[in-house]
Amino acid sequence: MGKNSNQLSKKGSHIMANKVLVIGSGVAGLSAACELAELDIDVEIVEQSDFPGGHAIQYTCKATDTCVKCGACMVEEKLDRVVNHPKIKVMTGTRVQDVSKSDDFSLKLVKKPLFIDPEKCTNCGVCFEKCPEKGAVVKGFSRNHSPFYAISEDKCLYLKDRSCTICQEACPEKAIDLNVPEEAKSTRADAVILATGFTPFNPVSKPYGYGEFRNVVTNLELERMLRTDGRVLKPSTGTEAENIAFIQCVGSRDAKLNHLWCSKVCCGSALRMAGLVKARQPGTQLTFFYMDVQTFGRDFDVFYAKVRKDVRLIRAIPGDIYPVAGDRLQVTFLDNVSSETMQEEFDLVVLSVGMTPCRGLQETAETLQVQLAETGFAEKDGQGTPASEKGVFLAGAVTGPMSIPESIASAGNTAFEVVKYLGV
Ligand SMILES: Cc1cc2nc3c(=O)[nH]c(=O)nc-3n(C[C@H](O)[C@H](O)[C@H](O)COP(=O)(O)OP(=O)(O)OC[C@H]3O[C@@H](n4cnc5c(N)ncnc54)[C@H](O)[C@@H]3O)c2cc1C
Ligand code: SF4
Ligand code: SF4
Ligand code: SF4
Repeated sequence: MGKNSNQLSKKGSHIMANKVLVIGSGVAGLSAACELAELDIDVEIVEQSDFPGGHAIQYTCKATDTCVKCGACMVEEKLDRVVNHPKIKVMTGTRVQDVSKSDDFSLKLVKKPLFIDPEKCTNCGVCFEKCPEKGAVVKGFSRNHSPFYAISEDKCLYLKDRSCTICQEACPEKAIDLNVPEEAKSTRADAVILATGFTPFNPVSKPYGYGEFRNVVTNLELERMLRTDGRVLKPSTGTEAENIAFIQCVGSRDAKLNHLWCSKVCCGSALRMAGLVKARQPGTQLTFFYMDVQTFGRDFDVFYAKVRKDVRLIRAIPGDIYPVAGDRLQVTFLDNVSSETMQEEFDLVVLSVGMTPCRGLQETAETLQVQLAETGFAEKDGQGTPASEKGVFLAGAVTGPMSIPESIASAGNTAFEVVKYLGV
């Protein structure tokens, strides 16, 4: 069922160009926005966090002597296009609070205080350097978006007890206002794209000491470390890790959690990170505990054959982890060949956490009348009238685990469906 027969929609006596609201600025939301804007459709992107780009903007390029097709650079390219496109407006720190639909959608938005004025900020970094509280001024992941810095509501001392105004006074551009209030906004749209992605599994419930032992980190934390420091450092000492274990399938393919799905991307992502670590820190020993190796992406088989020479593969999922002498960690696992319980020491353990349904999806899905599958991910073709017939479309990992290229392809298909619906 299409909406308009031409590119304009009527509201009262006004005639307005078609406008699409995209919820979520991950690679799927950015890609859908680019496709639509190229067709001269106005797009507004609503992003709840301080920075656009979703999870994938946090990943490092894993190329060594050649490109390993990890897809990380594709996100930077999309973000660059979005921030410079005259038909696209990005609203960070913003959530949809309420939606009503008659001919088009009327949406109430809430914008949290962002404290740094993007029009005035020159990204000089003075606020970051001068702030006395760790984590109160945070850096973004991409210089393609300004401001590159944000003030954390949870950590800032002024917002806690009014005891500090250092950054506001030090900012040479007077770009910081610590008293900015939350803002209620409203907007309209002819169609809505839900591209809220996924939430990484939180491994605190697993017996691996995450949150307790400093040298147990997640794959996402390793991605960020490689992106910002370029090397793998032990959080306990800040020195280079020499013996690293990757534990796969943490929070995926797990009957106890009722997470029966494979997250599809974490095997390839971990092995590509291992390849990068070996190239940058050649003395590092790398061990990979796994169930099956899922291959994704173009040319993965060629890459896999190469990386197998650098990584010791053990087909077992460890039972638990204990701290031993110094800051080392002892990993216990059942050896598949001898059927004996084995113990080995490592100085860093990386948990390859999988993808789970986006936090808050149930509430957003109810507001937009989107159906959820048994897994908790959004369902494209559930029972009853598909949400798309009412002008609500889905893109990317909000529907289930997928890679960056798959998310881009999904967004392309969604943009095509939206165009058909609008009758453009
Ligand atoms: C550890 C790890 C490593 C990975 N490595 C690779 C890799 O090397 N190569 C690869 O191809 N894929 C990789 N992936 C998969 C990749 O992260 C996804 O394909 C991609 O991020 C999906 O994009 P998305 O836009 O659908 O979702 P997301 O990246 O999750 O983006 C969703 C966005 O929506 C925002 N949002 C959520 N809820 C709301 C709301 N209510 N209102 C407003 N905004 C909201 C979020 O803040 C976020 O910015 C990896 C995944 C993991 C977990
Ligand atoms: S000190 Fe001011 S201009 Fe410099 S990065 Fe911070 S907010 Fe921006
Ligand atoms: S007010 Fe103080 S604690 Fe808060 S961000 Fe600025 S410098 Fe940091
Ligand atoms: S991609 Fe690999 S690590 Fe991730 S859930 Fe699937 S099998 Fe496990």
